[in-house]
Amino acid sequence: MTKTNLEFKTEVKQLLDLMIHSLYSHKDIFLRELISNASDAIDKVRYDSLTDSGKMEVEGDWKIKITADKEVGTLTVSDSGIGMTKDEIIQSLGTIAHSGTKEFLAALQTKEVKENPDLIGQFGVGFYSSYMVADRVTVVSRKAGTDSKSGVKWESTADGFFTVEEMEKEKNGTDVTLHLKEEEKKYLEEWEIRSVIKKYSDFIEHPVVMDVEKEKESELQKGEKVKIREEEILNSRKAIWLKDKSQVSEEEYNEFYKHVSHDFTNPAKTIHFRAEGTSEFSALLYIPATQPFDIFYKEYKMGPTLYVKRVQIMDHCEELIPRYLRFVKGVVESSDLPLNVSREILQSNRQIEIINKNVTKKVLDTLADMKKNEYDKYLSFYREFGRILKEGIHFDFSKKEVISDLILFQSTNNAADTFVSLQEYTDAMKEGQEEIYYITGASFDEVKKSPYLEAFKEKGYDVLVMLDEIDDFIVGGLDYKGKKFKSATKGEISLDKEDVEKKKGAEKKYKAIIELIKDQLKDDVKDVRLSGRLKDTACCLVGDDGDMDPQMEKLMKAMGQNVPEGKRILEINAAHPIFEAMNRLFEKEQKSIVLKEYITLLYDQALLLEGSKPKDPAAFASAITKLMVKDVESTVL
Ligand code: ADP
Repeated sequence: MTKTNLEFKTEVKQLLDLMIHSLYSHKDIFLRELISNASDAIDKVRYDSLTDSGKMEVEGDWKIKITADKEVGTLTVSDSGIGMTKDEIIQSLGTIAHSGTKEFLAALQTKEVKENPDLIGQFGVGFYSSYMVADRVTVVSRKAGTDSKSGVKWESTADGFFTVEEMEKEKNGTDVTLHLKEEEKKYLEEWEIRSVIKKYSDFIEHPVVMDVEKEKESELQKGEKVKIREEEILNSRKAIWLKDKSQVSEEEYNEFYKHVSHDFTNPAKTIHFRAEGTSEFSALLYIPATQPFDIFYKEYKMGPTLYVKRVQIMDHCEELIPRYLRFVKGVVESSDLPLNVSREILQSNRQIEIINKNVTKKVLDTLADMKKNEYDKYLSFYREFGRILKEGIHFDFSKKEVISDLILFQSTNNAADTFVSLQEYTDAMKEGQEEIYYITGASFDEVKKSPYLEAFKEKGYDVLVMLDEIDDFIVGGLDYKGKKFKSATKGEISLDKEDVEKKKGAEKKYKAIIELIKDQLKDDVKDVRLSGRLKDTACCLVGDDGDMDPQMEKLMKAMGQNVPEGKRILEINAAHPIFEAMNRLFEKEQKSIVLKEYITLLYDQALLLEGSKPKDPAAFASAITKLMVKDVESTVL
């Protein structure tokens, strides 16, 4: 049989290097990772045998066996699971590096992470953690449904290479054998193995067994003891989601959370309930305290694990929750579904729909309750996941109102660390204020200085600050208890009746110069008008009510979307001295070159204020310097 020597992918090499040289604490998690892989492999073969019965000849004795050989110094984790073909083993244990590996490696370099190797599991590079305790690892596997000659042996000392060769294996499944480093031989001790399994793998549904030596009363000679070796199950296999709440301690809930989520911190909230009636199911769900590092990656797997009658059907069942709750982790067990339920069935299954509705309601109720009774906790939840939750306003019409009451915003009348709810905002609205005002931007500080807010500041109106790209998309078209949302940077703003009158007068007075500006800028802006929002600044650019936000436009362009060039409206502050001065110039000489230059400069400034570049930066800079020289000359001379 031929032995092939293959090279690890660069990212895998780097990962292995880190495992071996940088991670020193919590080394015992390697066993958790191997048991977890073994358990997944059994789930897969059991699921296949249920959906594909007859086709596959598999062993029904589903268990994970730990064997410690003190003489040779090896620890083996064997499972009767799905196994791997030669190609699969090459792919899975050597050449495939998960997407996001680079980011993960960068994160691993930080000290915090080095001391918290639990993150390894979160990323899903569990198998490689073996090299924290072993200098050589051998994996022998046989795919379920293939014959005994189709086994494969994989081996590596993590020196950049691994070998694979065909070999016989009697049963399907996988044996992972660790040749322990001299200083890690403690993992051969029974008590050590027991305690690590108890600590990390107690909840694993399949039995984790080991042969242990026991003293027993001799059957032949009464009174005499004999030593025998007997297989013992080391994990309790408790399905804690099926237990009564009163029977589960907080510690057990937290441990189970870490097991299902691969997170190393305790959850922010545990939601455990049983539904009875039209649909019977149990759910143990968690709201994490911190964002999983991959939640914004395409590869992020959402959804609780689905069990049917104690059998794990799917480890991430996305049909069970809406996308805007994709941070929720946990387990749902239903007794109303068939065991051989497939993905296709799940997508249009009524039971699943009912569970989804129930789970959604329960999670949203829990969040509302947190907001009411544990505000600080809610706030930290919101900082982590608010951005995701908000999507629900747009995508789940039936829950729009409920979610509207859960969202929070910074606002211009408050400090950066204070958030207001829409209820608080509307309660505090000033007399005469009809709409909910908001402004979008890149940072709180930048937004606070925005000239678009001048009229609001003068009136003392609070303006919600929206910093997430999706905000504008979400609040556009939203109303809250009959009050419409209005962007401070779009449409006309007229906060005062008096101002409206004044503006009418000014419009008459400046009609001719406005026409001139309009004509000069006709290729750049769709209109020129006097502003109701500016008080100190000379001019700004605004969109129409339904136009896309400049932030959103930039984001869409960055994502490679074809965004039509949206022309804006130039608004001019009639009360600004520059405008009066320009008008005088205009009255004196309608074709003034200087006036023409000023109009260009005015427009460039408006572009800058909006966060865009002047049309011709070089010309802009030269015009400014020219003005500076003029100014210095007139001051000095
Ligand atoms: P993860 O389990 O997070 O995917 P690992 O590095 O631990 O990452 O494993 C990589 C892959 O190797 C697994 O996704 C699985 O396909 C395969 N694998 C590992 N252990 C086993 C096993 N005991 N039985 C079958 N396949 C396994």
